[in-house]
Amino acid sequence: MSTTSSKPDELTVLIGGRWRAPAAERRGSVFNPSTGEVIARVPFCGADIVDEAVRAAADALPAWADTPPTRRAGLMFRYRSLLETHFEELARLVTRENGKTLEEARGDVRRGLEVVEFACGIAHLAKGESLPQVAEHIDGLTMREPVGVCAGIPPFNFPAMVPLWMFPISLACGNTFILKPSEKVPLTAQRLVELLVEAGLPNGVLNVVHGGKEVVEALCTHPGIAAVSFVGSTPVARRVYALAAEHGKRVQAGGGAKNVLIVMPDADPDSTVRAVMGAAFGCAGQRCMAGSILMGVGDAAEPLRRRMVEAMDALKVGDTAADPSAEMGPVIDEPARTRITGLIDRGLAEGAKLARDGRAGVPARGFFVGPTLLDGVQPDMAIAREEIFGPVLALHRPRTIEEAVALANRSPFGNGASIFTASGQWARQFARDIRCGMVGVNVGIPAPMALFPFTGWNQSFFGDLHLQGMEGVLFYTRQKVVLSRWDGNYRRTLGW
Ligand code: NAD
Repeated sequence: MSTTSSKPDELTVLIGGRWRAPAAERRGSVFNPSTGEVIARVPFCGADIVDEAVRAAADALPAWADTPPTRRAGLMFRYRSLLETHFEELARLVTRENGKTLEEARGDVRRGLEVVEFACGIAHLAKGESLPQVAEHIDGLTMREPVGVCAGIPPFNFPAMVPLWMFPISLACGNTFILKPSEKVPLTAQRLVELLVEAGLPNGVLNVVHGGKEVVEALCTHPGIAAVSFVGSTPVARRVYALAAEHGKRVQAGGGAKNVLIVMPDADPDSTVRAVMGAAFGCAGQRCMAGSILMGVGDAAEPLRRRMVEAMDALKVGDTAADPSAEMGPVIDEPARTRITGLIDRGLAEGAKLARDGRAGVPARGFFVGPTLLDGVQPDMAIAREEIFGPVLALHRPRTIEEAVALANRSPFGNGASIFTASGQWARQFARDIRCGMVGVNVGIPAPMALFPFTGWNQSFFGDLHLQGMEGVLFYTRQKVVLSRWDGNYRRTLGW
């Protein structure tokens, strides 16, 4: 796949081991968000292509499910090694199609690579349990078996990490898979799959289709698919969860978020501002773990506001693909830019005050919004309730930690929240009282790590078993309990 030519790449589908251009009535554009230039064209597939992919995955399933887990792990070891070899290339591709800085893109690839490392341990992770003599002459054991053909539908904001949350664990568990990359960033996903093919992927074990709503609905309703992994916005996550569950599939669906950062008066000022800057403006605020509401508790609020504005003024916003010194890149596309600036306007109309305006002083080309801080934000304003998914931070000024936690717990979302404090007592109480799944103590982004599940709550997750970690293995396998009676008639002599 060429990624440097000026002619846009034409993306293809992978079905049964063969890359090909599908017949598609519609094609979408993939942009370099730093420049607005079209770098690729992506086909919008329909139900017919999904059906072909399901057939290929179903054909490949019996042999792959029967492959010893140590051999499946062997594929993951080879894949891991190829991902390391192509690490910089992948990071550059992420920057090019997503707009995040190269450093952020390296984090994106690294976090995903760690999931592949986790999947290398599948032979141990997927072991069952046993209890000899569970009843007279009867031994009991559990086996974890693959669920069948699985589908993965990732969002645009982590082009490498989120697809890698899905297919490596699923394949390692013995399933076959259909990946539908985000139509906004399909190049990285395509390259990730090419490398898996190079590592020795058998034909049909992983298939790739492209598109949007139509292809997602075909995946959620196809009778040949057993499980759907989805990550994206809350309205789509809710819909995918309901539709796929109605069609008898197990579903894990990560949704949107509105994460809170609580700063106590005793927090270390320098490290706190650094962490809050990273949480709010890293990846231009396009992270499901992005800090969106900053609560300066009591006396913490005023100095925090001042220091934040200074740090935001110093943050270099620019073309991340061309300028390695840029510290923050663009948002994904023009509709995202319009939506974000629209939400800032709405906040101002509802009475918030601009402490720093990111709508001005940004590059004219590409899809840029600079770091923005709104003060005087009240809990009922749209800017305080809705996911913005851009570099906009809303400052609240609760008087006490109790008030801060109560405010945070009013959110319908439940991905993450962090506290900054020198007090173990406050930190402990916060971790117990906050109603969300990922909790940070003096950490801006309590990031999803491969060895743990990513435990979103409430409207940030629909389903039961989360993505990644041991919950990933449980999601992609189903248990069988085997009871065996062998009451032979030879006389036993016990050794004690
Ligand atoms: P999105 O919901 O627009 O798209 C996600 C996926 O769903 C894409 O593959 C897209 O093609 C598909 N899709 C879009 N509209 C659809 C529809 N109407 N019907 C069926 N499928 C549809 O999300 P996005 O803009 O790509 O990503 C940003 C969102 O993802 C944010 O809300 C962010 O918080 C969330 N996110 C959540 C997590 C998590 O783990 N909870 C992680 C990353 C991102």
